[in-house]
Amino acid sequence: MKINPAIGILGGTFDPIHNGHLYIANSVAEQLSIPTIKFIPCYQPVHRPPTQASVTDRIAMLELALAGHPQFEMDRREIERKGPSYMIDTLKSLRQDYPNSPLNLLLGADAFENITSWKSWAELLDYANFIVVSRLNIAMNMPHPSLKNQITLDPQDLLQTVHGQVYKFEIEPCKISATQVREAIKNQKDVSTLVPKDVADFIDEKHLYGCNH
Ligand code: ATP
Repeated sequence: MKINPAIGILGGTFDPIHNGHLYIANSVAEQLSIPTIKFIPCYQPVHRPPTQASVTDRIAMLELALAGHPQFEMDRREIERKGPSYMIDTLKSLRQDYPNSPLNLLLGADAFENITSWKSWAELLDYANFIVVSRLNIAMNMPHPSLKNQITLDPQDLLQTVHGQVYKFEIEPCKISATQVREAIKNQKDVSTLVPKDVADFIDEKHLYGCNH
């Protein structure tokens, strides 16, 4: 089978998208030579309370943040599918569209830590590789012993193997979280170092997250 170029997948609530997301996507694209990263906003999160911003506003912020990054694109399949956004369904649908591409699911260490609570979690690796990215104060321990067999130390595997590999991508952690951004806005603090400028302006104009400027 001819292997097509690898694809990175960053699923999230993006409530809002922030510089931490862009930092991990950039690091994966540049350091691991993955040419395209798909940002996939969820419609309805299943592991957490509902988002504060609407679907329309979350998408608008993603569009603003991704403009000018040709290697990043938004993928709306979870929005179009509606209902609870299960990653297993998303990966199955991506696999149909890209049968010969390595699919590499980016997971912050916090998300990886909780992976065994995701629907059909053990099957996720039948469709994709995992790239587990450092996150501040979270150890990259294996959430389940069975995953140990799937660890690879060679990032080339992410370009040559279409699924089934777990790679720990240890980079300088970035401490930004969407929670921190929402808190800062609520407390009328400056967020110019936390989100792209166009996103900050949008939040301001639409008075999102309790912003009352
Ligand atoms: P919240 O604070 O609302 O929980 P979040 O900042 O974790 O949000 P999400 O959209 O839920 O943002 O995250 C999507 C994915 O990006 C998850 O896999 C998460 O672990 C990862 N991620 C987000 N921020 C970072 C960061 N600063 N470093 C590494 N991974 C991150």
